[in-house]
Amino acid sequence: MDPFAGGGSIPLEALRLGCETHAVEYNPVAVLILKCTLEYPQKYGRVTRIKERVGMVEVERQANRLVEDVKRWGRWVSEEARKEIGVYYPEDEDGSIPVGYIWARTVPCQNPSCGVEIPLMRQYWLANKDKKKIFLYPYAYGKQVEFKIVGDGYEPMPNDFDPSKGTVSKAFVVCPACGNVIDDKTTRKLFQTGRTGERMIAVVLRKKNSDGKHYRLATERDLEVFRRAEEQLQVKRQKLMEEWGIDPVPDEMVPSPCHDVDRLPMYGMYKWGDVFNSRQKLALITFTEKVRQAYKKMIEEGYDEEYAKAVMSYLGLGVNRLADYNSSLTVWAVAGEFIAHTFGRQALPMVWDYFELNPWSNSTGDWNSAIDWILDVLSHLSQILPVELEEEKG
Ligand SMILES: [Zn+2]
Repeated sequence: MDPFAGGGSIPLEALRLGCETHAVEYNPVAVLILKCTLEYPQKYGRVTRIKERVGMVEVERQANRLVEDVKRWGRWVSEEARKEIGVYYPEDEDGSIPVGYIWARTVPCQNPSCGVEIPLMRQYWLANKDKKKIFLYPYAYGKQVEFKIVGDGYEPMPNDFDPSKGTVSKAFVVCPACGNVIDDKTTRKLFQTGRTGERMIAVVLRKKNSDGKHYRLATERDLEVFRRAEEQLQVKRQKLMEEWGIDPVPDEMVPSPCHDVDRLPMYGMYKWGDVFNSRQKLALITFTEKVRQAYKKMIEEGYDEEYAKAVMSYLGLGVNRLADYNSSLTVWAVAGEFIAHTFGRQALPMVWDYFELNPWSNSTGDWNSAIDWILDVLSHLSQILPVELEEEKG
């Protein structure tokens, strides 16, 4: 018995050894994880004979019903959410699918004779692989810094430009137009007083039948789609607030001072919901709603309540994974062209230029990959033999 089981690695190993295992926790997050790793696979994740009706005949087959249901309802959640908000992640005219969008937070240059909106970028690389070098090249144009995409297959590389040096490092900002420097204290003040913004810079895409990524600059159409998602968020948020009696966007304050998370309030993210942009919020509250609806539908279809709760718990973990990959604290990992999730370490550091994913990209970090991970783990955990069987054998 493990009275402080946490994420459950000790009871899991005990279970694998065939011991009668008990885990105790009072942290509700840990309890949910324990249920999903230790309890439900043992209780419901057995390969059994399932009777099914195919047309007029009844057939029998061997299957792990829990795995199949998580897969089936995971797909249902995805399709229902997509019907509603898929329109906010449109394909390009040539059929390319957006993998996601690269954003930069912005601060106004403090030099009164300049006043450019400075996009905060720790570096300019889009892809930095041995055989693929692509980056954003900034140039000042009027009141806004403009970009070109340069590198292999794009515009020619400029000389004397180091893409690994961006506009910001440790909250010190250098204006790319006039060279003026903003110190860290001023940068934080600008964030805390709401004088900052954010700007969509580029779109990462893939062709239908390939996972190879290509890039283009964000256009007016991309911004228009985002604005519509922003409007839809207001509508959806209000609707769910009335239905659920709570704000669907987390409105709890980020604890401060607290070393692991103090960067968030330091940069004006006072509530947990502030960690997501509008379209990310819309996506996450819509997926959450669909998971709740999936539970209702399971009950309507005659599922046992406890069993439906188990299936819903895995879908809930799917939403958690999506939140981890779809916050404004994730970065585009240029050395591998994938998304690096929020919890890369035990803290939430500020991210200046972040990556917003498309939940249906069929590529890095999307809903399918969240569910696939969960299914892999679940299938594996389901193979641990129950204690009773071992005893019967003995
Ligand atoms: Zn300037």
